[in-house]
Amino acid sequence: MHYTGTIWRPPYEAASLLLEVTAGCTHHQCKFCTLYADLPFAFRMSPMEDIASDLKEAQELYCRFPKRKPSRTFLTGANPFVLDYQKLMAIATQIHCYFPEMSTIGCFARVTDVSLKTDEELAALHKAGFDGLTIGIETADDEALELMKKGYQAADILTQCSRLDKAGIGYYFFYLTGICGAGRGEAGARATAAVCNQLHPRIVGANMLTVYSDSLLYEEIQKGNWKEESETEKYREMRTLVQHLEIPTVFAALGASNAFQMWYTLPDDKERLLAFLDDVIRTTNEEELRRYRDSVHHL
Ligand code: SF4
Repeated sequence: MHYTGTIWRPPYEAASLLLEVTAGCTHHQCKFCTLYADLPFAFRMSPMEDIASDLKEAQELYCRFPKRKPSRTFLTGANPFVLDYQKLMAIATQIHCYFPEMSTIGCFARVTDVSLKTDEELAALHKAGFDGLTIGIETADDEALELMKKGYQAADILTQCSRLDKAGIGYYFFYLTGICGAGRGEAGARATAAVCNQLHPRIVGANMLTVYSDSLLYEEIQKGNWKEESETEKYREMRTLVQHLEIPTVFAALGASNAFQMWYTLPDDKERLLAFLDDVIRTTNEEELRRYRDSVHHL
């Protein structure tokens, strides 16, 4: 298989076939992000021959283990959904050629990638299997989005994800607890819940900001331009987000950035989750949470 650099996938894509169709990110500007820093280029699409050869290799492998055949493909790279409609359709055709029973295709997507497709193209992509995009909205707080150079605003999240809803393409959100900075976490959480409440994310997955010394955000902190939330404030922010979410969804906190792993179905488990977060806030202290943060050498 052709895999380039570190391969990132959401925890819930563990059973999916990971197919490299792109590597890197077309945006490459978010101040907190160091995810694709190990690549010698910013972004590239894989040659179609490599994609076909990987599918053939996977097909041969799963012929030997038919019971483990995947029903879903996850396209790797930071935002393969940026590829134009024809390329995405060509990839879907290749996948179904080698795996006719593959039912869905997912990938990471930026909000701005959706805006590059027409409504008709989105509907056709859904028909071709695209479903379950993971979108790192991070927050719906415009000030934080601007400062972190995410390249879109809260209104764009609303517009583009409503278009996904209309096309039938499901999506999961990544939220970045801590992105608003000291003293602004709970306001950012309320703004994000207000946007989520108008949409249909299947999962709101919280990651927790971990600042690495090779990030632009670290430089801003060193210059005194930005102050990180305390670890306890991050948990208060997370609680505020949960408290204000009014839609049926799953609230998850998975992956290394979270000291406490969570998977709760809302609204049924909301009170239980709030009680759990209250317990975390009451029984942990800043020093031990900070020790955990400092131990996260790699996401
Ligand atoms: S956070 Fe996502 S969009 Fe932003 S630079 Fe990193 S990979 Fe690219």
